[in-house]
Amino acid sequence: AAVGGPALRCTDIQRSFGGVQALKGVSFDLQQGEIFGLVGPNGSGKTTMVNVATGFYPPNQGRVALFGEDITGWSPHRIARHGVARTFQNLALFKGMSVLDNILVGRHIHMRPSALATLFYWVAAVREEVAHRRVVEEIIDFMQLQDIRYEPVEIVPLGMQKRVELARALAAEPRLLILDEPMAGMNQEEKEYIARFVLDARVERDLSVLVIEHHMDVVTAICDRVLVLSEGAPLAQGKPREAMADPAVVAAYLGQ
Ligand code: ADP
Repeated sequence: AAVGGPALRCTDIQRSFGGVQALKGVSFDLQQGEIFGLVGPNGSGKTTMVNVATGFYPPNQGRVALFGEDITGWSPHRIARHGVARTFQNLALFKGMSVLDNILVGRHIHMRPSALATLFYWVAAVREEVAHRRVVEEIIDFMQLQDIRYEPVEIVPLGMQKRVELARALAAEPRLLILDEPMAGMNQEEKEYIARFVLDARVERDLSVLVIEHHMDVVTAICDRVLVLSEGAPLAQGKPREAMADPAVVAAYLGQ
């Protein structure tokens, strides 16, 4: 696979739902190693943009490229295997499973179904299990989840559950991490934790990050650059403080 170029390049993306034009020609480059924010009022098209980039919705028009490779029209699974992991705004954890097992689920895209078809499948399975557990244990340490690793995930506090979800995304060892409102519903201390993990992960795990965020304070704290959307169209792009001070952006936020 090509490794040059931006981590994510979206060119003239258009997408409609019935009569609603959710994206009216959106273009941006997310450079490798960058933390890039997708910002805008509710209904401005942020989630749709991410769903197009991750293969959940094909665009009606436009191209998506990942590290220089055109992935337009690829399935979500294939895109995930090419190094894209995502967290969801509403937690998508498996109740009844431990924190550790929830994070281990993030490894599934790296497991080889063919291993099950061989006579020695169990050797491969055990060896893989050990390798997967090593990755997961390392991420548990990184995310400071050691003390709750064996707890059923539903009994740990919400802020910790968010951390588990982020850990599960990291367990896929993505090149591009997409976070959908990672700070939603969190208190100040939890927000600062998540911000710190994202900033550290970029450096230590060689990540590029796309953050969907409604709140300006979060974006200003962690993003290198932002794209502001309004009603499916780009309003401004650049450093967070500069983009947020753009009169069109101020008007869009006041007008909601
Ligand atoms: P945001 O994430 O910025 O809040 P969305 O991308 O969720 O915005 O929504 C943009 C527009 O597209 C909204 O008008 C929304 O109602 C519409 N939309 C998004 N997804 C769908 C869908 N699956 N079916 C119909 N309309 C949708």
